[in-house]
Amino acid sequence: MLMRIAIAGGGLGGLTLARILHRHGIGAVVYEREASRSARSQGGSLDLHPESGQRALTDAGLAGGFRSEARPEGEEHRILDPAGRTLVHHKPQSGSFSGRPEIDRGALRDLLLDSLPAGTVMWRHRLVAAVPRPGAGFGLTFDGGHRADCDVLIGADGARSVVRSLLTDAALSPVATLVELGISDADRRHPDLAELVGPGNLWCIGVSRILAAQRLGDGSIRVGISLPADGRHLDTYRSKRALLDMFDGWDPRLTALIEAGDTPPAPRRIEAMPAGARWAHQPGITLIGDAAHLMPPVGEGANQAMLDAAELAAELATDPADPDAAIRAYEEAMFTRIEPIAHMSARVQAMMLSPTAADDIVRFFTRRPAEPAPAD
Ligand SMILES: Cc1cc2nc3c(=O)[nH]c(=O)nc-3n(C[C@H](O)[C@H](O)[C@H](O)COP(=O)(O)OP(=O)(O)OC[C@H]3O[C@@H](n4cnc5c(N)ncnc54)[C@H](O)[C@@H]3O)c2cc1C
Repeated sequence: MLMRIAIAGGGLGGLTLARILHRHGIGAVVYEREASRSARSQGGSLDLHPESGQRALTDAGLAGGFRSEARPEGEEHRILDPAGRTLVHHKPQSGSFSGRPEIDRGALRDLLLDSLPAGTVMWRHRLVAAVPRPGAGFGLTFDGGHRADCDVLIGADGARSVVRSLLTDAALSPVATLVELGISDADRRHPDLAELVGPGNLWCIGVSRILAAQRLGDGSIRVGISLPADGRHLDTYRSKRALLDMFDGWDPRLTALIEAGDTPPAPRRIEAMPAGARWAHQPGITLIGDAAHLMPPVGEGANQAMLDAAELAAELATDPADPDAAIRAYEEAMFTRIEPIAHMSARVQAMMLSPTAADDIVRFFTRRPAEPAPAD
């Protein structure tokens, strides 16, 4: 009998998994809570690393599509202090794809969606419960009452995964508050800010706060303010005036990034699972991406989600008749791979919002490759 694989969540991890399985002739259904591919803006851009995100795209047969969508120049980054002085200015080799080119999340998700057979993604399917069936497999219930059965359930349903609770009770802890704003059509409307940010990323590092900006492929700038996780209500961060007060004394050329925002400030809590969290294997079910290992966002989450997908797909394709052996092998390798990355992400996140962040980050970005990443 044909194995029915259900993937909960059509983010970067879930779609990469469905695509690579499809290339191996293995069908899967992706249940996605959003109404359509354009229901929500997918956010900023990502740099895909050769050994993880780019490797997964090669396994997906999408390396060519990636090269035509990615922006190698987006790797450029600038680090400034609150007075506007440049601390680091890194420029990638012109047009080189050998590093970590940036790609807009929306473009990457579209690349994956376009590569799947029609009907693979079931939109408007928010999983609300998964119950083991007598014998094997799971009965799935979606918002609105629709039901489906599967033999293998893969939770790719992100930070607040529903599937995770079937495997582990690992709790999430707040690690930061992030407030985002957008500036559209920056070259025409705010040429000085477009010049300040450049083609990639800008970070302005103060004491326990960062004002960051990122250039996207559509000519807009995405502004992100990172602050320590405190108990304050998120509404505190919804007014530009309140945000500007938090950056009092900073060079006005920098705070102009907040003033120019043409979307209302959108605050959210950034959370993480404990580094090194594992679960005991259970038949017919596993997790990938943020559902498996939610980490502070320092540039690894999407890359590791896509590598999880590539590794799990490869294991499932090795012996499609024995999905449990595949899941076991995937989980062991994934836990070992993720643990040091999760610890590193926690350290970098803590460093970024520490009082000595500027010095620490400059050291981090200018260290020679052989030097270890900064310790606690
Ligand atoms: C501000 C920020 C910046 C980041 N920058 C980077 C970066 O530069 N590089 C990097 O590698 N990583 C980055 N990350 C991390 C990265 O975004 C995530 O690790 C990555 O998106 C995880 O992919 P995923 O497929 O596991 O989850 P997601 O991308 O979150 O996808 C989960 C999907 O599941 C759907 N879903 C959720 N619940 C349900 C449900 N119950 N039923 C059905 N569908 C459901 C969601 O709608 C979504 O489509 C960043 C994160 C943040 C917050």
